[in-house]
Amino acid sequence: MLDLAIIGGGPAGLTAGLYATRGGLKNVVMYEKGMPGGQITQSSEIENYPGIKEVVTGMELMEPWPEQCMRFGLKHEMAEVTKVEKSGDYFIIHIAGGAKEEAKNVIVCTGSTPKRAGIKGEDEFYGRGVSNCATCDGFFYKDKEVAVLGGGDTALEEALYLANICSKVYLIHRRDTFRAAPSTVEKVTNHPKIELILESQVKEIYGDASGVNGLLIEDKAGNVRDLKVPGIFIFVGMNVNNEVLKQDDGSFLCDVNEWGEVIVDLSMRTSVEGLFAAGDIRIEAPKQVVCAAGDGATAALQVVARSH
Ligand code: FAD
Ligand code: NAP
Repeated sequence: MLDLAIIGGGPAGLTAGLYATRGGLKNVVMYEKGMPGGQITQSSEIENYPGIKEVVTGMELMEPWPEQCMRFGLKHEMAEVTKVEKSGDYFIIHIAGGAKEEAKNVIVCTGSTPKRAGIKGEDEFYGRGVSNCATCDGFFYKDKEVAVLGGGDTALEEALYLANICSKVYLIHRRDTFRAAPSTVEKVTNHPKIELILESQVKEIYGDASGVNGLLIEDKAGNVRDLKVPGIFIFVGMNVNNEVLKQDDGSFLCDVNEWGEVIVDLSMRTSVEGLFAAGDIRIEAPKQVVCAAGDGATAALQVVARSH
């Protein structure tokens, strides 16, 4: 029986492992389906992780984490967890391929995945002008013009954030009404630095070896506009990676909100005793590396406290 199973080896999972083992837990396994590091390893430039003065790539940022986090006995299993179930006062961890493991405590750190819009050039220029994170990459476009795609709360809130940094923000949306909160819509529509491009689709993101040079946008009449911007932020929804919590009857093991984000308290406790969630998967996650790491530490300290 494991003292603790950690699902996911991004910033939240690795930090949870560090704090749990350093806190004295002996039998702690972190299940990660790929290489440890998480989604930040896809980013080419990070400059907001405290203590790292230089602009580094996601790979460079995360490279030392596994060695440090495993120094105190955290075990890493490269495996995909398919389901976490509760049985009495412990948990059963189902692993792809059919193996099972039992654990007294579980911290779910499986993160989230931005949806792709499916535009030509989107994958080619991802991380080189195409971004899903304004907090992360907005500063690289200081005093430049950028585009934002989407018509939900995230797109509108991030457009407002970018308008504080950039000289102009083109907000491109496929319909003429938004899904976002009315107060946010009002702020966006009245903002002097935001130009709305409605009932329009981005047909292509183009560029060269240095990155994005512009977008081809088609309106509903079929007119094509060539918008010469060096960056586009795509916010067409997020997938919360909560599949491991889905039970055979379709319900979730613990309470989640209407968007599938795991409901936690300030200690990262879920509605189920012994089950914690940390990082991007939880409600109101700021979706930053430093916050995910902090969540992982918070959850692990709770597990340490309930294990003594
Ligand atoms: P993740 O990093 O998503 O890690 C989850 C891990 O769980 C993954 O490694 C995944 O493989 C694993 N996993 C998922 N399901 C399973 C399963 N069933 N079984 C086993 N393993 C599983 N943040 C910043 O602070 N600064 C930035 O500049 C910045 N830039 C970004 C740029 C990009 C392009 C992206 C995509 C994100 C950026 N972020 C940035 C956000 C940051 O990466 C996330 O907030 C952070 O990584 C969340 O950490 P996490 O541990 O919660 O989840
Ligand atoms: P969302 O509400 O699902 O909105 C996604 C937007 O992207 C929609 O406007 C959609 O257009 C558009 N879109 C989807 N696929 C597209 C494509 N392929 N090409 C072009 N446009 C596309 O996603 P979200 O904004 O990330 O929000 C997710 C959830 O979190 C929502 O329920 C939201 O309310 C919530 N949230 C809340 C807050 C807050 O309360 N402050 C903040 C952020 C998020 P259509 O409108 O035409 O479908």
